[in-house]
Parts: sequence; C-alpha cells; structure tokens
Amino acid sequence: MNINEIGGEFALIERLKNLIRSRHAQMETGIGDDAAVIRIAPEPAPLLLVTTDILVENRHFKRNWSTPQQIGLKAVECNVSDIAAMGGSPQWMFVSLVLPPDATTEEIEAIYAGMNRSCKRYDIALAGGDTTQGERLTINITLLGVVTPALLCLRSSARPGDRLMVTGSLGASAAGFMLLSAGETPSAYLKDKHLAPVSRMDVSQHIAPLANAMIDISDGLGSEVYHICEQSRVGAVVNAAAIPLHQDVRSAAARLGTDPVQLALSGGEDFELLFSISPANLPALAQIEADFFEVGHITDPSGPVHLLHTDGRSSPLPRGFNHFQ
Ligand code: ADP
Ligand code: MG
Repeated sequence: MNINEIGGEFALIERLKNLIRSRHAQMETGIGDDAAVIRIAPEPAPLLLVTTDILVENRHFKRNWSTPQQIGLKAVECNVSDIAAMGGSPQWMFVSLVLPPDATTEEIEAIYAGMNRSCKRYDIALAGGDTTQGERLTINITLLGVVTPALLCLRSSARPGDRLMVTGSLGASAAGFMLLSAGETPSAYLKDKHLAPVSRMDVSQHIAPLANAMIDISDGLGSEVYHICEQSRVGAVVNAAAIPLHQDVRSAAARLGTDPVQLALSGGEDFELLFSISPANLPALAQIEADFFEVGHITDPSGPVHLLHTDGRSSPLPRGFNHFQ
C-alpha cells in the first residue's frame, strides 16, 4: 500500500511502533514526543533525552541554495530544537553521512565547520557516527541531552485553561523556501530563517520551569497544536489574528498570492517553541527578557481544535506539514 493511502507520515509511525516493543520500564516517554525520555538513574538524577533528525539533499536542502556551513548548522540546530522543546540541554552527538560520488572532502569539512558553530554555541561533543556512499547527500544526527525531572516539558502535559504561547514570529522559513522555489530572491531575513535557522535554546531553559506542555514548531503551528491536543487529550482555540507574522512574511505571502497565516500554520521549520502555560505563571513569564506571543488557549478535555478567523468565524484548525502528503 502507498504511504499516502494510510494517512501519511504519522499514520505510518503509528503502525511501525506496534511492530517492535516500544515500551520499556526505564523509558518514560518513547515514540511521540520531540525526544525520548530515559531514566538511567533514580530521581533526582537527570533524565536522558535522545532525538534524531535526518536531512536529505533536495528534500530538506539544496546544495546550490545553501552553503555547506549552512547545511551543517541546520542539521545540528533542528536536533537541538527538539532537546530544547523537552526543557533539556544538548550534550553528545552522533553524525551519520551518506555521501554521493561528487562530494569532496572540502565540502564535507565545510559542513562540519557549520555543525561546529552550533556545537560550540551549546557545548555539544561529537561522540561518533557512520559514513557511507549513496545517491544523495544525507545527514542524520542523533543528539543526546539531559533534563532535570522538574523541568521536563512533555507534549502530553497541557491542561484546560492553559494559554498557548509561541516564542517568535512564524512562517518565515516557508516564505523563504517558496520564494527560492519560485526563482525569486527572498529578503535576507527570510533566507536566513530558511537556510540557517537557530533553535530557541536561548529561552527554553527559562520557559521550562513555568510551562506545562512544550513542542518545537518544525511542521507548522497547526500540526504542533494538534500534537499537544491529541497527547494531552484536550481541545484548543488558536486565534489567527494573534499569530505573530514578520513584515517580510506578509509581503512574501502577497507576492506569492497566499495567506501569511497559512504559511505560519502549514509551513514548517520555524524552530520556534510552542508551549502551554497556566495563567498563574504568566507574571513570571513576563519577567523573562524575551518576546512571547499568546496565540490561543487550551479548552476542555477531548474538545475540538479550532481556528478563530479574523472575521469571527471559526473552523477546524488546518494541520501542518506531513511528509508523503
Ligand atoms: P519531530 O518533528 O519532533 O522531530 P517527528 O514528527 O519526526 O518528531 O516524529 C514523531 C515521533 O515519531 C518521534 O517520537 C520520533 O522519534 C518517532 N519516529 C519518527 N519516525 C520513526 C520511525 N521510522 N520509527 C520509529 N519512530 C519514529
Ligand atoms: Mg520536534
């Protein structure tokens, strides 16, 4: 059967996780969050976090759009973003490479120089990997991190009444990608957001003690709100007018003849954080020196997930990006 026919990427993962035992006494969270959570020592020892992400040439990057340094940086940052979303800090990394025949040592070393920019920023050590030949340049990074149990933010921890907050404006990566694909020149801001995104490790450690649920926005706000709602068994309302959009995203959307809100909801790779927080913790959040945007709130258990449009209408929230669809 075609992967599309069963419902795409997430439906496939649901099937796969039943084919091999995916529960284990020490595995507090396995498949279904931004990283797996493994208890390797009794409390109050930190928990181990493990995440992995793969970047495939022409699917996730193009060698004629990005510099090798940008490719390397993005490969690390998208993994760091998943550790940040758990409230943790990244520590050790494994890098596996599929190298096409035309890859040169200079190019690979430049990719590693880009990775090193991120590794130095977060103090990540390279612990191993694997190298082989293949058709397309492919970079798979597995990143391990740690989290203090009290700071762990799961997708499943949102509660009715929580406010839904994001750490920055959305849709810029998708706007940059769409303009590049159309053969146009994006602004420096949009290009940077798409080709050299930086995770929000800078704020995640401050948010983690205050937030209930947290997730990074890699597949579009729509998809991530559904992940939180499905795993926390709650509903939500997202307010379209409250979604932060950069001026460049608005002008790109106008040029592309699309709705900037759609870019934020269904585009991907913004690598901002989405979190749910009790209203009681909002004053403490306001003390953090960073911008936070309230985009909606969590509603009743198992309630619907709605988008409130600017004209007052409300409809089911569109889902975000899904590979294979
Ligand atoms: P993220 O966007 O945060 O990187 P994904 O949407 O890629 O997360 O994956 C969702 C969950 O499914 C994660 O827990 C991930 O580890 C798991 N997963 C993805 N692909 C597979 C696979 N082929 N086999 C087992 N688990 C998978
Ligand atoms: Mg994630």
